[in-house]
Amino acid sequence: MPLLEIKDLHASVADKAIIKGLNLTINPGEVHAIMGPNGAGKSTLSNVLAGNDAYAKTGGQVLLEGEDIDEMAAHERACAGMFLAFQYPVEIPGISNMYFLKAAVNAVREAQGKDQLDAMDFLDLVEDKKKMVKIRGDLLERAVNSGFSGGEKKRNEIFQMAMLEPKLCILDETDSGLDIDALRVVSDGVNALRSEDRGFLVITHYQRLLDYIVPDFVHVLVDGKIVKSGDKTLALELENEGYASWVEE
Ligand code: ADP
Ligand code: MG
Ligand code: MG
Repeated sequence: MPLLEIKDLHASVADKAIIKGLNLTINPGEVHAIMGPNGAGKSTLSNVLAGNDAYAKTGGQVLLEGEDIDEMAAHERACAGMFLAFQYPVEIPGISNMYFLKAAVNAVREAQGKDQLDAMDFLDLVEDKKKMVKIRGDLLERAVNSGFSGGEKKRNEIFQMAMLEPKLCILDETDSGLDIDALRVVSDGVNALRSEDRGFLVITHYQRLLDYIVPDFVHVLVDGKIVKSGDKTLALELENEGYASWVEE
């Protein structure tokens, strides 16, 4: 069964049609990249998938492991194994990262019918994932993202992703504004998490990220529709030629 199936999706923001008939299927183990010019609807797509109420799905169907996500609230989508990394991670002052993560991990486990992790098991999991993502211990004790540098926020987000063990990871322009070190953090983290039962949707404006996270499929999104799909070489083509040929059509 596909992990994610998007069929003829239509969506609007503030009564303006943005996504205009989008189709995409992601199978377990696959990494798909969506590239497109500014304003193409990339963030609208990720917000609709996440269940952000400000974005209205106006047509089509989105199935997460065969289940229609219309029936699921945002937190239920997360519990069903969807994880979204956004361009601008939120700060949550006063809530420690560790506390936040324990609550999140156990909420997902509860929804999936698994036992709650006790303090010891949770710390074991933290140690395990810390090594995988190479995050500093002190960042885990601090309030969520509070005063974190751009690179630290990214590392923390990848750490959250590792802790939650999602089935489908969606990264929306998580590379924008990152220096080369932070870019490596994101891509090393994603690559460490790649597995045959997990899928990724990597949304980016720039080809650069895809030098590090090598996708299985690349799709070009222009004006709310996928206008071309191909393998990783399509990303290089776009880098050389830009989006002009599609935008003008
Ligand atoms: P991308 O991520 O590809 O740059 P977006 O999905 O952010 O594109 O935006 C697509 C279009 O929707 C743009 O024209 C943008 O101005 C508009 N848009 C996005 N969010 C909102 C909003 N909250 N209110 C009004 N218009 C919006
Ligand atoms: Mg944009
Ligand atoms: Mg965007």
